Amino acid sequence: MTQVLVVGAGPTGLTLAIELARRDIAVRIIDKTDEHFAGSRGDSIQPRTLEVFDDLGVLDAVLAAGIPTPIMRVHLGGQFVTERRMADPVEPTPDTPYPNLWVLGQSDTEAILRTRLAEFGVHVELGTALTDLGKNADGVTATLTHGATTETVTADYLVGADGGRSTVRKLLGIPFDGVTDESIRMLLGDVRADALDHEYGYWFAASEDRPMEGFALSPLPGGRHFQFAAGLDADTDPSLETLQAMADRYAGVPGLTLTDLSWVTGWRPNIRLAQRFREGRAFLAGDAAHVHPPTGGQGMNTGVQDAYNLGWKLAAALHGDESVLDTYESERRTVAARVLGLSTELLDKLVDGDETAMERGPQTRQLDISYRAPDDHGPLVAGDRAPDAPLRDADGRTVRLFDLFRGPHATTLVFGATTALPAASDARVYRVLRPGLGTADPHVIDVDGHAHSAYAAEDGTVVRVRPDGYIGGRD
Ligand SMILES: Cc1cc2nc3c(=O)[nH]c(=O)nc-3n(C[C@H](O)[C@H](O)[C@H](O)COP(=O)(O)OP(=O)(O)OC[C@H]3O[C@@H](n4cnc5c(N)ncnc54)[C@H](O)[C@@H]3O)c2cc1C
Repeated sequence: MTQVLVVGAGPTGLTLAIELARRDIAVRIIDKTDEHFAGSRGDSIQPRTLEVFDDLGVLDAVLAAGIPTPIMRVHLGGQFVTERRMADPVEPTPDTPYPNLWVLGQSDTEAILRTRLAEFGVHVELGTALTDLGKNADGVTATLTHGATTETVTADYLVGADGGRSTVRKLLGIPFDGVTDESIRMLLGDVRADALDHEYGYWFAASEDRPMEGFALSPLPGGRHFQFAAGLDADTDPSLETLQAMADRYAGVPGLTLTDLSWVTGWRPNIRLAQRFREGRAFLAGDAAHVHPPTGGQGMNTGVQDAYNLGWKLAAALHGDESVLDTYESERRTVAARVLGLSTELLDKLVDGDETAMERGPQTRQLDISYRAPDDHGPLVAGDRAPDAPLRDADGRTVRLFDLFRGPHATTLVFGATTALPAASDARVYRVLRPGLGTADPHVIDVDGHAHSAYAAEDGTVVRVRPDGYIGGRD
C-alpha cells in the first residue's frame, strides 16, 4: 500500500521522501530518467537549507563534500585586477550556527539525499514515468509507465516534484503563470580548466568599459571541474567549442584549454508561478510549482523548503489531522512569489551590467522567511523561524536547541520552573531554566541566557515549535 507517491527525484522529491519515510509513512518515489542527473545546476546551498539539512541528518555529509564560497579573481581585458567574494564570510552566532552560503554541485547534494533516504529502506524507482492521473475523494490513481509496461497505483496523496515541465501540474490543469524570455540566454556547464588554480573562482570580463561581458568559472568541490556561466547569443550552440571560444576571447591566460565538459545547457529565463499548489489530494512542490532564474541561487533551496514544509503536514493528515494541509499553499506560495521577485530583480541587474547582481546579501540566505500573519507584529510570533541557542542538558553536557528540535517531532519549550508542563501531546517538552533555578525534568539550562533573549521569553513563556523549525504558537 502506498500512502504518498512522490513524482520526481530531484532535491525536492528526495527531501519530501526523507521527511515521509522517517515518519514511517509508506512512500514511493519515482523518476522518469534512467540515470541520476549529473550536473552542478543549483550549486549554492543557502543558510536556511543548511539548517533543514541539519534536521534531516545530512548536514555533516554536505559540509564534508562542499566548500565555502570561493574568492573570485577578477580579470579585465586579460589583466588580473582584484579579488572579490560573492559574500564576505560571517561569524556564526548563538541563534544562527550556519550563516554562510555553502557550495556543492546539485548532483552531489542529490546523491547525499538518496543515501539518507536509503537508510529508511526507500530507493528511487528510475525509468518510471507518471503518465496519467485520476483522483477521487479518498485518494489518487496514477498510471506509471516503465518502458513498454504500465502500472496503476493508488495512493492517499500524490506530490508532483517533477520539475518545471511538470506532468502532474499539466494533468491537474493548474495554470503556470509567467513569462519565458526569448531575448536572454545563459550558457552554463561543468568543465575542467587545468591551467587555473582550482582554489579560486574567476571572472574574465571584456574590459573596464564592459565589466559584465565575459564569463565566470566557479570551482566545484570533489574534483577539478568549474561551473562555467556566460551570456549566450540566441543562435549559438551550447558546446565545448563555444566555451573554448569564449575562453580564448576573454581570458588572456596562456594555455587555457577547457576539457571534459560533463554537463552543459543553454538556459532561457522561464519565470513562472503555479496558480495553485494543491488540487484535492495532489500537491505541487519545487520547480513544478515555481521556476526562477538562477540569479541569487534560490531555486533548489526553495524546492527543498517546500518539501520540508509539506512532509510533516502530509504525515499529520495521514494520522488524522488534515487541517494543517491547508496551510501548505498559503505559506509556500507566498514565499515562492517573493523569491521569484528577488531572483528576477537580480537577473535584470545582471542584464543591465550591474555588478551587484553577483553579490549575496542577507535577503538571499532565506533565514528571514516567516509564515507570520501580515498583521502580526512583535518579536518571534507564530510563523517565525525558531532560532538556535547553546544550552546544557540535565547531565551537564553542551547541547543546542537545534539538537532538541532534530527529528520528526514538534517541541514545546516551557521557560522557567513555575508554569505547569502541558498535558500529553505529540511534542517533546523541555523546561528552559536559568542557572540555579531548579532542575525539574526534562530540562535544559540556558547558561548564557541566549535562549531567553532569542525567544523574547520570560518566566512562564511557552513556545511551541513545529517539526519544521517554525514557531507554531506561544503563550
Ligand atoms: C542552469 C541552472 C542553474 C541553477 N542554479 C541554481 C542555484 O545556484 N541555486 C539554486 O538553488 N537553484 C539553481 N537552479 C535551480 C535548481 O536546479 C532547481 O530549482 C532544482 O533542480 C529544482 O528541484 P526539483 O526537485 O523541484 O526539480 P528537478 O530538479 O527538475 O527534478 C524533477 C525530476 O522529476 C523528474 N520527472 C519529470 N517528469 C516526470 C514524470 N512524468 N514522471 C516521473 N519523473 C518525472 C525529472 O526527471 C527530474 O529528475 C538552477 C537551475 C538551472 C537550470
